[in-house]
Amino acid sequence: MQAAPVVQGLFEGQGDATRLLASRCRGCGSVYFPRSLSCRHPRCTDKAPQDILLGPHGTVYSFTVQAYRPPPLFVMDDWAPYALGLIELPEGLRVMAMLTGRAPQDWRIGEPVTLTTGVLFRDAEGREVLTFQFRPLAISTATAAEGALA
Ligand SMILES: [Zn+2]
Repeated sequence: MQAAPVVQGLFEGQGDATRLLASRCRGCGSVYFPRSLSCRHPRCTDKAPQDILLGPHGTVYSFTVQAYRPPPLFVMDDWAPYALGLIELPEGLRVMAMLTGRAPQDWRIGEPVTLTTGVLFRDAEGREVLTFQFRPLAISTATAAEGALA
């Protein structure tokens, strides 16, 4: 099955192999996601970002439940309320992402999570269009998929 990322240059891979495409400045070590062409740290003089991959592990820093359907720029075929998480990564930045694998209201701050992908919609050619998501670290991908369908 052909699949495509919802935005080119945001992540690579699928399922447990999902990684975020990011930058780390060789001058000051600042990490950026999505990738940055320059370093925005005010005291950095080198401003030399290089491409890195982030993931798969993080921790739920905070989350909310998206209870109404977002406006039309956001497309999701089988829409249902979902948890939207702010995930703290070991590289020192926080990334916003959909959470999957559990009922939206059952998430807890501080939970360990791991990257995965989920289908947002099928495009005109029938390809699955994917976004990156985080799922509970403690359960398998198969269980997460079942949870997403529940
Ligand atoms: Zn820098």
